Formats: sequence, structure tokens, C-alpha cells
Amino acid sequence: MDKLLEGLKKFQTLIYPLHQTRFEELAESQEPRVLFITCSDSRVDPNLLTQTDPGELFICRNAGNIVPPHSNETGGMTASIEYAVSVLNIKNIIICGHSNCGAMKAAMNTEELNDLPHVKTWLGHCRAAVKSVENQHDCNQHGTLDPAYLDEVTKQNIILQMQHIKTHPAVFAKLATNELNIYGWVYDIKSGNVEYYDEASHGFVKL
Ligand SMILES: [Zn+2]
Repeated sequence: MDKLLEGLKKFQTLIYPLHQTRFEELAESQEPRVLFITCSDSRVDPNLLTQTDPGELFICRNAGNIVPPHSNETGGMTASIEYAVSVLNIKNIIICGHSNCGAMKAAMNTEELNDLPHVKTWLGHCRAAVKSVENQHDCNQHGTLDPAYLDEVTKQNIILQMQHIKTHPAVFAKLATNELNIYGWVYDIKSGNVEYYDEASHGFVKL
């Protein structure tokens, strides 16, 4: 905690005064241009990665950068997406996965999650991504995928969540009138590279 409190003091005494006018503007309203959905993983920093400032990204984070398909149940993701698209009028959505994702590893081997019932249920939203990779490769004797396929599962999960978000009414409606773009990114922590999902080739291409 000491490091965080020192950081807060530095922000208030050094950083805030440099940008005071901007913060006073932001205090009144926000006009973010991008809804950025990514994993809760501490190694992913959306503002650092995109060199954006407060007020520019509307960020939703959870384990596995998952967007549950729309249902009549209200959840945090559903409400945030509805607000971002309908009220903030956001035109661009990025769903960003990342290398070495613990959630994707867990999704590949859910038998080990019996003591984590909420995690297990949550990761059910990426079951189709795991299944599609399993269909293309042989599983081991335990019936699970080799860890070598983690990147493939991570990418399939991004494609899957891009489909899930289209089931949300606010998103579906804006897509119909070409008012919204949805992008899938995967961030490689080690190299800093980002690949995006290219719908034309059904593959990931370096940005
Ligand atoms: Zn992750």
C-alpha cells in the first residue's frame, strides 16, 4: 500500500497541477470515443498500450475479456455496454485479449476449477472457443488441450466475444446502421506487439 499512497501524493502534487484545466473539464463530462474491453490481468494497461489519457477510453475489464451473450439477466458488462453505446454514443469497440492469459488457461482445463464455482461458470462463456480449438487438434489422455494451444484459444475467444457483443440490442441496432465498429485485438506482453482480427482472412494480422 505504501507504494500506492506515495503514487497518490505524487499525482496530487506533481501531475494534477500540470493538467488541472483538463481535469476540470473532465469533472463536468466525458466523451470517450472507444469502449475498451479487456482482461483484468495486471499486466494489461489499456491507456499505456494506446497512449491515451483520462477521458478517452471507456474501459470494462473482467477475467478473460468476456462479453456474456445478451440475456434478460442484468450484469455489469451488459449495463456498461448499453450505457457506452446508447448514452455515450461510442462508435468503436475493442475487445482485447492478451498472451499467457490465466483465464484462458483455466478455460482449457475447467476440471481443476471445482473449488472456484464462479470462475468455472464465468469461463463457460468461452467454452465454444475452447471447443473449436479442440475440434482442430487432438486432446491429451486427460481429454484436455495441450498448453501449446493457449494462443489459439485466446484468439478464438476474442472472435467469440466479438460475436457475443453483437447480441446486445444496443450494439446490434447500431451495427445495422453502420454506426459502430467492433475490433478484436490480442496483445503480446513480451514483445509489445498487437494483432487484430481480420474478418476478410479470418486470421490475426499485426497492427
Ligand atoms: Zn487474462
